[in-house]
Amino acid sequence: MTKLSDAHAKTKPSFVVERNAEPVSIADRAKLLADPGFGRVFTDHMAIVRYTEGKGWHDAKITARKPLLLDPASAVLHYAQEIFEGLKAYRLADGSLATFRPDANARRFRDSAQRLAMPQLPEELFLESIRQVVTIDRDWFPTVEGGSLYIRPFMFASEVFLGVKPSAEYLYLVIISPVGGYFKSGAPAVSLWISQDYTRAAPGGTGAAKCGGNYATSLVAQIEASKHGCDQVVYLDAAERRWVEELGGMNVFFVFDDGSLQTPGLTGTILPGITRDSLMTLARAEGLTVREAPYSIDQWREDAASGKLTEAFACGTAAVVTPIGRVVSPAGEFKMGAGGPGQTTMRIKQKLVDIQRGTAPDPHGWVHRIG
Ligand SMILES: *Cc1c(COP(=O)(O)O)cnc(C)c1O
Repeated sequence: MTKLSDAHAKTKPSFVVERNAEPVSIADRAKLLADPGFGRVFTDHMAIVRYTEGKGWHDAKITARKPLLLDPASAVLHYAQEIFEGLKAYRLADGSLATFRPDANARRFRDSAQRLAMPQLPEELFLESIRQVVTIDRDWFPTVEGGSLYIRPFMFASEVFLGVKPSAEYLYLVIISPVGGYFKSGAPAVSLWISQDYTRAAPGGTGAAKCGGNYATSLVAQIEASKHGCDQVVYLDAAERRWVEELGGMNVFFVFDDGSLQTPGLTGTILPGITRDSLMTLARAEGLTVREAPYSIDQWREDAASGKLTEAFACGTAAVVTPIGRVVSPAGEFKMGAGGPGQTTMRIKQKLVDIQRGTAPDPHGWVHRIG
């Protein structure tokens, strides 16, 4: 079944374009774009491609964004066979729009599909679908400072069948949400709750796949974090409850007093973040030592107390880089440095943002101009 979709990878993807006949008015759009927040405003169009076993990918369309008609027995509603991606289009200094490392998202989408026993979308089809929707909805770029287009490709099982097996039919879609800066005033330091009762991913599980199910199971831990006055959850490994893994939707980095950085290695239970990978590359290019190695919660506490650890931050596409100020558990809490954004954190964040927005050279070919 997965082989079949690969056979279609060679053909240049072509989309039928059906323009939205009732787009949001220019005046209403301007109002929405002045303060879009995160994930509540959407553009006029979407991409949709169907997959049918035996036929492969077909009926690629750019069409008006509208509700889907789903049979109540659609497999995804029962067994959660669903994966997604998240990337942004930025406006460059010359006014053109560009996505950041979309090829890496395309590859990760294929890896996620494989883990969830779904057909792998050809990379070309993924890239072209994004290019088409961003192009048709380019006037939706937010006017607010620090704004971008958040692009959400996703795929789900659409076969009407209650038996437990990989679906024979899928829908792949791309929707776009104009977003402001994730945090209203730059990047305040977040507080983390060390989840006691819950883990995010077990060895052999789906921790390395970007699937909705991982998020569904994280919500109860997020409620626990809020109850303890924390912004986010930091998860420990499921086997020993000792090693720091990541946040619900962001990877984590530690900065030491000798200037080195460390992040947990990709053992299969951690999501391979593209921001994580980019920051490692940028830090190494600056001459900093970056280790991918396990880091225990006890060591974190000890190093924060001794001053050996000076900064910690979380990273991901949505908020880019977020300083970690405070870590809380029933055993007490500890702070990073003075509890605010650290110098190294803010410097490498700026490096990344400057490349994404086209104000610094792009030696790694990460920026993909659209039209
Ligand atoms: C998406 C995601 C990340 C960050 O990945 P980026 O490619 O940097 O956006 C980190 N952890 C989890 C669990 C995620 O789902």
